[in-house]
Amino acid sequence: MSDYNWCHGPKCHTNKTQDRIRGVKGSKVLRTRKILQNQWNANNQFSHFCSQGCWNDFAYAHWEEFIRLHPRLEPLETPIEDPVKTKHTTSYGYTYTNTEIKEVDNNTNP
Ligand SMILES: [Zn+2]
Repeated sequence: MSDYNWCHGPKCHTNKTQDRIRGVKGSKVLRTRKILQNQWNANNQFSHFCSQGCWNDFAYAHWEEFIRLHPRLEPLETPIEDPVKTKHTTSYGYTYTNTEIKEVDNNTNP
């Protein structure tokens, strides 16, 4: 495994920052950032993206492919207990209603 990845942001190489400047005088370029692999980015997207902006640009450019790879044809559901509505009155006389929504506890251990 190499110790770095190139940033996958499709526009990374167009950002005008000094750390992206490479090449010899008269033949300069802005280059995609190289990302060192370390313990802080080992298990997250920042092992392949140099910034939140590059991550967003990539997702925006390829979201239709992601949807094709991971289609959601049915909704997901979380079982809940019957919601409990409670009415509260503040010391200033303002009243508001709170609805408590609790997930069903499927933990069978006491
Ligand atoms: Zn980048």
